[in-house]
Amino acid sequence: MLILVTNDDGIESPGLMAIAQSLSGLGQVVVVAPDRERSAVGHSLTLHSPLRAEEIRSGQFAVDGTPTDCVNLGIHGLLSKRPSLVVSGINKGGNMGDDVTYSGTVSAAMEATMMGVPAFAISLESRSFKAEDFVIAARFAAELAEIVLQRGLPADTFLNVNVPAAAPSGVRLTRQGRRRYGDVVVEKIDPRGRKYYWLGAGEPDFQDIEGTDFHAVHRGFISITPLHLDLTNNRSFQILTTWGLEGRLPASFIEN
Ligand code: MN
Repeated sequence: MLILVTNDDGIESPGLMAIAQSLSGLGQVVVVAPDRERSAVGHSLTLHSPLRAEEIRSGQFAVDGTPTDCVNLGIHGLLSKRPSLVVSGINKGGNMGDDVTYSGTVSAAMEATMMGVPAFAISLESRSFKAEDFVIAARFAAELAEIVLQRGLPADTFLNVNVPAAAPSGVRLTRQGRRRYGDVVVEKIDPRGRKYYWLGAGEPDFQDIEGTDFHAVHRGFISITPLHLDLTNNRSFQILTTWGLEGRLPASFIEN
C-alpha cells in the first residue's frame, strides 16, 4: 500500500510531518511536496520551466513547483507504483467556502482525483501551528484514510476536511460555505517612493449558514465536504435557456 502525501506549506511544515507520521501506520508513505511555501497558488501547473525534485530524506522529495506539480510528478514520475491514496495537508489554516478555489492544498487533492486516485485535503483551522497543534488532525487523517482505502470514494469525488483547533465535538458532513470578503487592499509607499499593494489584509469573515463547512468548524466539529471537479451550475440552465443563445448566429458572422 503506497500513500502519497503533499501540501502547499512546504516540505518542512510541521503539519506535513505530523500527517506523514500518522499515515505511516497504514502503509508506505512517500512525501512529494513543494520545497517552499506555495499557499494560495490554486491549481497552478508549471508548464514553461523545468521541474527539479530532490530526495532530501528517504522517501521525501522536495520539488521546486506547486502542489499540483507535486501530485502530477509524484504519480507519473517519482513513485515506483501508483499510490492507493493521496493526502494533502495538514494545512496551516482552514480551507473552507470560496477559499477552496485559491487553495493549493485542496487543488492537490483535485489533481489526484483527475488522475483517478482517491484523495482528501485536510486543514487545521487554528491560529497556532506548532507540532503539537496538529496531533488531533493527524490522528483523524489516519482514521479517515483507513476508511477511504477500504471503501473507496464515490466517482469524481474528493474530500475537503477541516479540523477545529480544540478537541472536536464530532464529525459533520457539510457543503461548501460562503466567505464574506472585506475588500481590503492596503496601499503603501516603498522606500524608493513607488506604490505597492497588499491583498487579503482584512480580517476574514464568513456567512454562518447551517450545514456548511464554516458553520460546523466554528462549532467545534470536524467538517468533511465532498467536492467534485464539475463546476457547472445546473440550476442556471433554467434561466439561460430563455436567453435564446442556442441557435443564434453571432452578429459578426452575419456582417462578414
Ligand atoms: Mn497553506
